Amino acid sequence: MNTTLQNKDKTYIAGTYARFPVDVCRGKGSLLYDSEGKEYIDLGSGIGVTAFGSADEEWKNAVTAQLGLVQHTSNLYYTGPCADLAELLCQRTGMKKVFFCNSGAEANEGLIKAARKYASSVKGPEYSVIVTLKNSFHGRTLTTLAATGQDHYHELYQPLTPGFLSVPAEDTAALAKVLEEEKVAAVLIECIQGEGGVIPLSPSYVKKVRRLTAEKDVLLGIDEVQTGNGRTGELYAYMNYGIEPDLFSTAKGLGGGLPIGAVLLGEKLSDVFGPGDHGSTFGGNPVCCAGALNILSRIDDSLLAEVKEKSRLIFSTLTGAPGVESVSGMGLMVGIKTVKPAAQVVASCIARGVLCLTAKDKVRLLPALNIPTDLLKKALSILCEVCAES
Ligand SMILES: *Cc1c(COP(=O)(O)O)cnc(C)c1O
Repeated sequence: MNTTLQNKDKTYIAGTYARFPVDVCRGKGSLLYDSEGKEYIDLGSGIGVTAFGSADEEWKNAVTAQLGLVQHTSNLYYTGPCADLAELLCQRTGMKKVFFCNSGAEANEGLIKAARKYASSVKGPEYSVIVTLKNSFHGRTLTTLAATGQDHYHELYQPLTPGFLSVPAEDTAALAKVLEEEKVAAVLIECIQGEGGVIPLSPSYVKKVRRLTAEKDVLLGIDEVQTGNGRTGELYAYMNYGIEPDLFSTAKGLGGGLPIGAVLLGEKLSDVFGPGDHGSTFGGNPVCCAGALNILSRIDDSLLAEVKEKSRLIFSTLTGAPGVESVSGMGLMVGIKTVKPAAQVVASCIARGVLCLTAKDKVRLLPALNIPTDLLKKALSILCEVCAES
């Protein structure tokens, strides 16, 4: 790759990222190109963000049209795209109100604030505990790190926000015990643990979590940051489980590549926030909302059927393939346990023009929802080749 760029990046950018040796100059759909014109099939979509791939025409037109009108107003004024997007989100989910922000972590912060404020006003301020799951991931701010049930994320940044507990997934007795013994405001779960290794929760467990929280009048929040916006073959992952959360957060794919996060508040929480209770300067930015409105309106039944069809293709191609131990996930959110270390598989794929991700010890695929089937097949055959080689 371009080593001048690599050196400048290493010199001036804080060392938080171990980047792959690829410099991305441009893209079209599910193809990306580096500065030497090398082509890559993109199976990562910027960690599940570019829902319709790179430089999608319709999305680009929606975004540039809004850019030409007004790019930012602050939340002191009304803007159309923000209200239109909130309306569509509520219509598609049955939720009642939306708070817009700029990222997944910030959406979870908003969700936690809504839950604590509600529980405090209904049950008392001591009802502040947020229960999450072991091996979860909820973000990088101090509060969402506290929510993240993985100790190694916590070590460098003590003290974290207090009031968080995590219990093992699939262990209903552990959850019931915590709900009995602690003053809990909300339980927050990912239906599929993404960063944790693409591990779907079982339907019986998710239903039990819903039942236990309802019985105790404890809120159930779902982190749909990665699983949301069509990724799993339903608009939001909880819709695969036949449950209704009290509130949920989303981000990643919603903006199609522009930063936007949202907290969706159900009936109980529809009036939880009043003026001044929460806010964000950039939240609900009209350009991001115009992009998101285009994305959300295109995640319809026919696209979701396509996602499920491509998911079946991925699972049937990889399950039992040489060098593949197991395949997990849902829709176009797939984890692959390979015989070779995941990092080695990803590196070999890069050399052959396929970009994939890792999650823990797995190879992770999060392709664009509209990846053309021929490109997907080509990328999968390269991935299979790489996995099969000794
Ligand atoms: C990516 C992710 C986050 C954090 O989102 P950011 O936009 O990076 O702040 C939170 N929760 C889940 C489940 C995620 O996958």
